[in-house]
Amino acid sequence: MFEDWLRRRHLDTLRERALRYAANGWPVAPLAVPRDGSCPCRLRDCVEPHLVGEAVTDPVQVAIVWDRQPWDLALPTSSFDVVDVPARFGALLNQLLKTTCPTAMAPAHRRWWFFLVPGSIPAAQVRAADGVLHSGPDDWVAAPGTNLEYDGRVRWLVHPGLTGWRPYQRRDAVDEVFF
Ligand SMILES: [Zn+2]
Repeated sequence: MFEDWLRRRHLDTLRERALRYAANGWPVAPLAVPRDGSCPCRLRDCVEPHLVGEAVTDPVQVAIVWDRQPWDLALPTSSFDVVDVPARFGALLNQLLKTTCPTAMAPAHRRWWFFLVPGSIPAAQVRAADGVLHSGPDDWVAAPGTNLEYDGRVRWLVHPGLTGWRPYQRRDAVDEVFF
C-alpha cells in the first residue's frame, strides 16, 4: 500500500518535471537508468542509461509517457548544445557566465554542463578542454534531477528559468551595444 503510494508520488513528480520542461519548449524523452545491475527497460543487460522513446513536447503525450512507467528524463540536444567540461574549466566558466547560462553539475566526477546556443563552441575546442559536446537531435543529456550511477545526482546550478529557458548566446561588447 505504502509502496504503491510512493510509486504514484514518484511518477507524479517525474511527470510534473517533464511537463515543466515541455511547457517551456524543451523536449523531454523517457530515459532508462540502470541501477544496481538492473535496467528498468527489462529488455537487456544495459550498462549505460538509454532512451526508451521519442522526445515529446505535447503535454498530452508527456502525460501518457509518464502515466505508468517511472522513466527518468532526458533532454535531447535539438535546440541547444551541452558542453560538458571538468571542474578546472567549469568552475571558471560558471564564474564568468554567472546566471546568464543554464548550468548543471554532475557531482561524482565534478563535471559541469553548460547549455549554449547550437554551434557556440567548436567540438575540437571542447575536446581540447577534456570536454564532451552533446549536440543535435540524436544526442541528449540526463535532465538535472536524475540520479546516475556514474555521475551522481545531476543538479541545476543555474536553472533555465533564470534565463527565460533560453540557452546561452555568446556576445561580445559590440553585440551588447548594437543588439
Ligand atoms: Zn535498458
